[in-house]
Parts: sequence; C-alpha cells; structure tokens
Amino acid sequence: MSDVRNVIIIGSGPAGYTAALYTARASLKPLVFEGAVTAGGALMNTTEVENFPGFKDGIMGPDLMDGMRAQAERFGAELVPDDIVAVDLSGEIKTVTDTAGTVHRAKAIIVATGSQHRKLGLPNEDELSGRGVSYCATCDGFFFREQNIAVIGGGDTALEEATFLSRFASTVTVVHRRDTLRASKAMQERAFADPKITFLWDSEVAEIQGDGKLSGLKIRSTTTGELSDLPATGLFVAIGHDPRVELFKGVLDLDEQGYLKVEAPSTRTNIPGVFAAGDVVDHTYRQAITAAGTGCAAALDAERYLAALS
Ligand code: FAD
Repeated sequence: MSDVRNVIIIGSGPAGYTAALYTARASLKPLVFEGAVTAGGALMNTTEVENFPGFKDGIMGPDLMDGMRAQAERFGAELVPDDIVAVDLSGEIKTVTDTAGTVHRAKAIIVATGSQHRKLGLPNEDELSGRGVSYCATCDGFFFREQNIAVIGGGDTALEEATFLSRFASTVTVVHRRDTLRASKAMQERAFADPKITFLWDSEVAEIQGDGKLSGLKIRSTTTGELSDLPATGLFVAIGHDPRVELFKGVLDLDEQGYLKVEAPSTRTNIPGVFAAGDVVDHTYRQAITAAGTGCAAALDAERYLAALS
C-alpha cells in the first residue's frame, strides 16, 4: 500500500496544473494523474491561444500547457501520465486506482477532469479542427473576421455563439436539425433581429469539405434527404458538452446539467476533503483562465482543509 499523500489531483488541464503549482509551492508534494492520452487537456488540441493573459503575441495551446506542466514540476509536483479508473472518497483517507490497479491514498483530492465538447462525428472534423472547425466562439471568433460562418445547433449556446460571431463575420448561418429552437425566447429574438444571421431549418451537416483548411459544407435536409452546398470558411459546432464525471456518479453530487456541484464560491464538493475545479464544474465560462483560476482556488481550499486536520 502506498504512503498517504497530502493531495492527489486528477486532471492536467489549466485547472489541474494550476492546482498542482499552488499545492507544490505550499510544500504539499501533490501527485497529479494527467490522463493517459489527453495529458495537458483540451488546449493540446488547439493552435493559437490569444486570450490567456501574459502572452501579448498569443501562444500555441500545447506550448502554454507545456509551460504550466514544467512550472508545476519545478516546485515538486509529481506527474503521472495515467488515468484514474476508480475512486473511493468515503473515508478520511481517500483512494484512487490507476490503470495498473495500483491504489494511491491521500487526505485530499482535487478533481479537474474537464469536459468534452460533443462532435458531429464526421470525417474531416478532427483534421480541420483549428483549421476552420471550432467548438468555442469566444476562443476563436476573432480569427473569422469577414468570413462566412456556419453554427450548428439550436440551443442557447448555439444562438449565443451565432450572435457573438456576427460581430466579426460577414454572414452567420445557423444550421438546425428541427424547425424550432430549444434556445430561450430572449436569445431567439436577439438572433432573429440580427441582419447577419440566417437559419437553415430541418438541416444537418452531411460533409465537412476542405484540404488542410475548411472550404465548405454539404448540407442534408432532415425531411427530404436532399443535399445542398453551403460555402463556409468557419464551422462552429455548438451541440453541447459532456463533463467528465463518470468516476463520480453516485459518489459526488452533480448539478441539474450533470456537472460536479460545489459550494460556490468555494471549490468544496459534498464530501469533505474533495474539491473540484475547471470545466468539470463550469458550464458557464469554459475558458483556460477561468479553469486556472478555480484550480488555484481548489489548491487553497485543499491547503486550508489539510491545515485544519493537523
Ligand atoms: P481540460 O483542459 O479539459 O483538462 C482535463 C484533464 O483531465 C485532461 O488532462 C484529461 O486527461 C484529464 N482527465 C480526465 N479524466 C481523467 C481521469 N479519469 N484520470 C486522469 N486524468 C483525467 N480557452 C481559452 O481560454 N482560450 C482559447 O483560445 C481556447 N481554445 C480552445 C480550443 C479548443 C479546440 C478547445 C476544445 C477548447 C478551447 N478553450 C480555450 C477552452 C479551454 O481549453 C478549457 O476551458 C480548459 O482547457 C478547461 O480546463 P480544465 O483544466 O478544466 O480541463
């Protein structure tokens, strides 16, 4: 059986690495499970990040994450590129199990497992991600000035993205599978009143076209199956996110949207000694800087919890 650590961190995006940096600097010697294939988190899959403060010329997503990783390591965080596959959070000493079946013990746990945006699941989607295909208007909208953009979805997020993008784009076409929207009335009214936004009802994306760069979309009617072309150099997929909470279902409280519930503004979950930060908690902001901010808060909350134990 392993020694009892002060703190184990699950996840290595901006939230996990920031929590690692703070707990390492507090001499808590954190053990960080980074994930087997997705170490570094969501920003490892993007190109330029222009809105993380401190980088006036922008920074490539993987470079930003490498920097965060190295900074946490410099202060003594122990980083393991593996997944946690089981947790027992019930006692004062919590346990997590890695893919080899090794059980690790700690007095405090910080969960920073992030969320996964839903994809269309079409060929070319991954290849053109960051090259015309995007999942975040706040992150990437600025790159699409005076372009023709398609937004996929019919909920609040899709209309919020469309309205935001219309500031930059020449045209925004919202492509929706049905003939009515799920979005709130206020959001719908704002989008309908926007002269740059048009709607393609009863429609879905059949094909994402482009070689190294998005060049257009093939649209299929969901009622007749008829195909048509939509010229677009930007595609924003806004069909939802899934927080990575599989390990914690039935263990930690979730909110009505399935995200981990914390006693805001703290990062405390319903189990003492277990804290949560980043996109696994946050369905509102979903930015690298907000994830880093709550990662810092989780580290400080864990530090105070540990201090009160001794
Ligand atoms: P993530 O970055 O998602 O990290 C979660 C981590 O948890 C991963 O390392 C994963 O491996 C790990 N993990 C999950 N489950 C387990 C497990 N069981 N065991 C061990 N590890 C596990 N934001 C911006 O501010 N600016 C941008 O320009 C920007 N561009 C983006 C571009 C793209 C393509 C995407 C997808 C997102 C972008 N974002 C951007 C959003 C930003 O990436 C997220 O808000 C941020 O990464 C969330 O950080 P996080 O630490 O909560 O989670």
